[in-house]
Amino acid sequence: MALSSTTTNHRLPAKIRLRQMGGRLAFAIRGGDDGDRTVRVLNYHEITDEQVAGDWDQMTTPKALFAEQMEWLRGAGYRVIDAHEAVELVAGTRPWPTEPVVVLTFDDGFRNYLTNAWPVLERHGFPSTLFIPTHLVGQHNGRLDWSDIHHLARSGLVSYGSHSATHKKLRRLPVETVQRELQDSKRCLEERLQRPVTLFAYPYGSYDAFDGSTIEALKATGFRGAFTTIAGANRPGTDPFRLRRTRISWVDGPAEFRMTLAGAFDWYAGYQWVTGWHGWCAPRGNGIVADRAAVRGSPGGAGGVSAASVRGSISRAVVR
Ligand SMILES: [Zn+2]
Repeated sequence: MALSSTTTNHRLPAKIRLRQMGGRLAFAIRGGDDGDRTVRVLNYHEITDEQVAGDWDQMTTPKALFAEQMEWLRGAGYRVIDAHEAVELVAGTRPWPTEPVVVLTFDDGFRNYLTNAWPVLERHGFPSTLFIPTHLVGQHNGRLDWSDIHHLARSGLVSYGSHSATHKKLRRLPVETVQRELQDSKRCLEERLQRPVTLFAYPYGSYDAFDGSTIEALKATGFRGAFTTIAGANRPGTDPFRLRRTRISWVDGPAEFRMTLAGAFDWYAGYQWVTGWHGWCAPRGNGIVADRAAVRGSPGGAGGVSAASVRGSISRAVVR
């Protein structure tokens, strides 16, 4: 099945194959960590019907593979917790569970969460947290609408956080723009959901996506925690505004998924630091341009950009 074929797919680009070799090497040398007082946060984007050809930015996970990953978590004895609980764990305000813990997060509010991920999560009773760019809700490009978001919230298994309003990379933006992105998205979600929204996920959340002033703005707006896309585990005392997450996608077959949970890809944060900080990997799709297009193409906007092109440009943007 698609699951096992991904691990031996000779067509994988060199970058992905090198990362997988690095994971195997790290796993062979140091073994897995024992999961004691670590919480790993998995970061998904789209859960698709089938494997998407040419998705080298690893934005998609086929639903069959996703289902097997969730089955593995259950079989391995993981306790899946909500992102809000994870913040309380690292802050020391909640006792650490005895079993290994993991958090499931989904960014960008794609509608295939509802059709492909939710049935699996509901069956297992696994909680998950969705980070929503509020200006993109209900767009005719495969995004959840407010009715979907309410429906999922009523289940009690799905929680929400802000992913900004228009999905801009916040670092280096004028402080007023950052404040507006945070305030608008928080207020919008709170008004719609009628509950406090205290968590945030940085758009394009690697080292170059935020800085100290972004964190100050988040605190001033009333957020209590924020998730990056920097690989690694979170432990007691981890800064709640620099929580680490590990991207999962179609390239993560059974071996890679198991090794990810064991910490074999944590070294990838070093690669992210070098490439993100020094701009060696400039985004192939410009996030800000894509976001402006998204706003123009929104139902209330001036139009002129097709929903498909917006979705394509955002999906192609490098989001680490
Ligand atoms: Zn995003």
